[in-house]
Amino acid sequence: MVRKSEQLADLLERVLGSSKVLRDQATTHRYRGIAWGPASSPLPLVVPLAPAAVVVRPESADDVVATVRIAREAGAPIVPYGSGTGVHAGAAPVQGCVVLDLGAMNRIIRISREDRTARVGPGVVLGDLDREVGAHGLMVGHDPWSQPIASIGGAVSTNGVGYLAGKYGSMGDQVLGLEVVLGDGSLIRARAVPKTSTGPSLRHLFIGAEGVFGAITEVDVRLFPIPERRALVGYRVDRFEDGLEAVMDMVALQLRPSMIDYEEDDAAEGVLRVGSLVDVPSSMFLAFDGFAEEVDAQVRRADEICRQRGCDPMAEGAAQEFWDTRHASAERYLRDRAADPDGLVRRSWSRRSSTYLNVTLSPSTILEFRARAARELAPYHLAVKNAGVWGIPELVSVRLAHLAADASTVEADLVAGSDLVLRIAQQLGGSMEYCHGVGVQLAHLMGEEHGAALDALRRLKRSVDPDGIMNPGKLGL
Ligand SMILES: Cc1cc2nc3c(=O)[nH]c(=O)nc-3n(C[C@H](O)[C@H](O)[C@H](O)COP(=O)(O)OP(=O)(O)OC[C@H]3O[C@@H](n4cnc5c(N)ncnc54)[C@H](O)[C@@H]3O)c2cc1C
Repeated sequence: MVRKSEQLADLLERVLGSSKVLRDQATTHRYRGIAWGPASSPLPLVVPLAPAAVVVRPESADDVVATVRIAREAGAPIVPYGSGTGVHAGAAPVQGCVVLDLGAMNRIIRISREDRTARVGPGVVLGDLDREVGAHGLMVGHDPWSQPIASIGGAVSTNGVGYLAGKYGSMGDQVLGLEVVLGDGSLIRARAVPKTSTGPSLRHLFIGAEGVFGAITEVDVRLFPIPERRALVGYRVDRFEDGLEAVMDMVALQLRPSMIDYEEDDAAEGVLRVGSLVDVPSSMFLAFDGFAEEVDAQVRRADEICRQRGCDPMAEGAAQEFWDTRHASAERYLRDRAADPDGLVRRSWSRRSSTYLNVTLSPSTILEFRARAARELAPYHLAVKNAGVWGIPELVSVRLAHLAADASTVEADLVAGSDLVLRIAQQLGGSMEYCHGVGVQLAHLMGEEHGAALDALRRLKRSVDPDGIMNPGKLGL
């Protein structure tokens, strides 16, 4: 195996040049492909991680084509890698693989102010792109917590969701076209046209596909004008249900905040109970983007709705502070990862005894979901610590906390409890994940997620990746 890896690395070096091929273990070891590292991940991995045989840092689509052809010939898997901040181990190396680190393909190729589009390499960091297009009076609509660290290729491949999804949609909604190297080594372009009637839009095969069909080598992204006005407001809410009603009233009025960030506070120590929900206050932050009169009208109507539902306006400046610090967790994450000798971010004990799940639900099922989760989690000593809604009411998060004194069962309980909650979302007609992808960690639930359609996905994969070398095992494919 070692000899085969050495031969593969030698060949890659010969074709690509040694500067693009990383093979010393101290470097390859840092390619974890999971945000918090296996040792401290909230969910243990179903398939254990393996070290990469070699890491390639291509600088062009031709380099990617060459890498895929060489790996295919050698029968070696390829794992596309953006910034490695994905939380479900989508970019985690598999046995004997070539990690394809697209970070060096980070060129902003062109920006069109008039068309409000940009063409960029997959390794461009979202925050860098936003800064660059800002000089043209434009903004990137996808603004996740991880905006300062995540690559656009990774965000497209997980179809991520950010603070402004209420108005601008998910990352995938903002993709106009893609260039992709398929698993058979061919280079294709899903052309960047805003609307066609010339067959299925091929780009959707790669949005949220976690690199299992091919490696994205260019992204054409839709940009948005920096709004004339952005208003930020915040409310405190005593009961989760009341804030949810306020959100639903806004939706019923076709009032669409660009940001809805609604989340219960963490319950104080000793308040949580296994088997039942406890009432804790929540915070709701709203943003409205648009032309001045429109924004003023939206703020006024939202305020009426929120007050009618018993929401109390926060002090002046609180919503602005929330907005200004929205990327702080990512900046902290980046510092911790750089400082750790193994390139891991290790979680504190309290974080390891809790987990955070993001599911899609019809709004009418949210309260049933939350109540069922609390009740059915009891055998696993888990309580629903908080619930929240992000962007649109359909995107629902819950944090689970382990309450038993016996720490030896924490991991097993978190895994079983998480699966149970994700299955409740599926049974209610929803989806088990709305932004972080499936990776390795949720792969075992893909059959229940897609039913017979999973087999159709497998057949699609075979048609573009006949030897199954692209990110095998991820997405359950
Ligand atoms: C502190 C923190 C906050 C976060 N906040 C958010 C958030 O608000 N919203 C959100 O959606 N996510 C969030 N995440 C998760 C993560 O940042 C996103 O999933 C992000 O989009 C992943 O980007 P990446 O460049 O790190 O991708 P990676 O983790 O490197 O890869 C993710 C997946 O995409 C594939 N991939 C990467 N590049 C390519 C390519 N060019 N072609 C084909 N496949 C590719 C990989 O194989 C893998 O399957 C957060 C993570 C952290 C650590």
